[in-house]
Amino acid sequence: MKRFVDNITGGNPRALLAPCLVSLCTGFCQIVPSLLVFAVFDTMYLAYARGEAMNMAKLWGICGLLVAWIAVEYAARARAHEKTAMVAYDLSAVGRVALAEHLRTLPLGFFGSRDPAALTTMLLGDYNNVETTVSFYVPQLVSAVILPIIVFFIMLLFSPQMALAMFLPLPVCFAIMWLSSGLQKKISGRHVKAREDSAGRLQEYLLGMRDIKSHNLGGERFEALREAFARLKRESLRMEIIVVPIVLIAIAALRSGLTLMLLVGTFLLVGGELSLPIFLLFLLLGMRVVEPLSVALVHYAELRYTALSAERIMAIRRERPLPGTGEAPRGGDIRFDRVSFAYQDTDVLHDVSFLAPAGSVTALVGPSGSGKSTVTRLIARFWEVRQGAIFFDGHDIKTCDPESILSRISMVFQDVYLFKDTIRNNIAVGRQGATDQDVEEAARKACCHDFIVALPQGYDTPVGEGGCTLSGGEKQRISIARALLKDAPVILLDEATASLDPENEISVQQGINALVANKTVLIIAHRLRTVRKADWIVVLDSGRVVEQGTHDGLLAEGGLYRHLWTLQQQAAGWSMRAA
Ligand code: ADP
Repeated sequence: MKRFVDNITGGNPRALLAPCLVSLCTGFCQIVPSLLVFAVFDTMYLAYARGEAMNMAKLWGICGLLVAWIAVEYAARARAHEKTAMVAYDLSAVGRVALAEHLRTLPLGFFGSRDPAALTTMLLGDYNNVETTVSFYVPQLVSAVILPIIVFFIMLLFSPQMALAMFLPLPVCFAIMWLSSGLQKKISGRHVKAREDSAGRLQEYLLGMRDIKSHNLGGERFEALREAFARLKRESLRMEIIVVPIVLIAIAALRSGLTLMLLVGTFLLVGGELSLPIFLLFLLLGMRVVEPLSVALVHYAELRYTALSAERIMAIRRERPLPGTGEAPRGGDIRFDRVSFAYQDTDVLHDVSFLAPAGSVTALVGPSGSGKSTVTRLIARFWEVRQGAIFFDGHDIKTCDPESILSRISMVFQDVYLFKDTIRNNIAVGRQGATDQDVEEAARKACCHDFIVALPQGYDTPVGEGGCTLSGGEKQRISIARALLKDAPVILLDEATASLDPENEISVQQGINALVANKTVLIIAHRLRTVRKADWIVVLDSGRVVEQGTHDGLLAEGGLYRHLWTLQQQAAGWSMRAA
């Protein structure tokens, strides 16, 4: 129970206090009209029984109160709604931001093992569920439980037999819900899984549309999506078919209390042990208790479902961020000391050792899949090394704050992500507080100023999703401008010119030259001619350093580097021939 409350309130159970209190007050407000109706009936009945004239002043007074109470009830309900909505929206807004912020501190390995669609569902859908739970389900449940207890004691004062008759089936009703809660949880879990699968399939279908069309996979991929939706339908139906009858049985048990009370009341009435007004009072109060309790039973089933949402959110909030609090050094060399690493179970790097001296260019070369990108990701601490250590100017990066490390590194990779924003803001992400002048200066150095000013709105042209589309080379130059603006001492570069046309290649190369001056540079080289002038070349093969040295030295060694070099020289002379 404590865990559930902690989960839905993000560890702040006090947040539930206000919604529960206002819900309780609203519940009381709803009981008052029943008491007033009883008072009207009682006044009439007494006058009739005694053969006296009606006390009209009293009757009008009570009727006036009844009318006034409509306003009180309205005000209470409106206030309750406002209060609970505020708390719920506040909790989920703060929670969403906190979760998004927390996700940023987690190692990338965490994201590798999660479906992005599941995270999106969580940040939107699960928090919606939490909102409803906090603003509606829990406060209603609390008032639906507390009010009957109070009503029970009031009833006891008037007629213990009727009070007991009314509440006798209540334990049965709770037992049904409690005994079935395991089953409800299991069914809810399956439904949540099916919902996530559908979201994942849908995302895959939409994002992969280009490849689906070009490889004519429409039928196959659509089949997967159709199957996911069909499963979701089956699970939704299963919930309806199994959970709803359970709730209906519990509600029937609850309502049987009302019938039982009527039977006992009639018996007492006939025996002269009960007056008609009291009988009516029980009837009115009984209905006031049964109605919200029935609703609460339905909501209890919903709670089982939303509890899963809250649990999933908290499971992520409990994920440990990367350790390390030390400030990363402002510059210096990077040293790999017998580093081994695996993404999941299979090792990707084995015993990798090399030194990238400060202010020099170190190239990483090797066949595709040999671990070059992995080396750069480990430097940025996207993942944690399994064995060995990486030193940044003599400091083990494990002891440094990951944010601090990232602030010392600029990365230029082949796939550039542009935010849905203007070009100016996309460049300005490189440095917080960069002025328009800084942005333009960086853009000039990165050779993107000319193509930017040629766009209809210049630097204010929107790019990214739905905005203006830029070519691969242009995007890379934007990312170089970002990196220039950041002016970090370490540059991690995935040789970005590999897939560019000659014109773009020259511009990108110029931008890179401006970027790497006087920096510690690690470059992943796909084409060896671009790294001939590197100060040091590390050759990787199947995750091991097989050679390292200068271009001339490695050629002379006659190993893998020489082999790759020869292959690329031959490829350069290759041309398309007619068959
Ligand atoms: P390179 O950059 O030399 O092409 P990578 O460092 O990208 O090589 O990959 C090295 C190995 O690690 C490959 O076998 C690749 O399949 C695997 N790998 C890369 N990224 C991941 C990942 N996120 N999860 C699991 N395996 C990965």
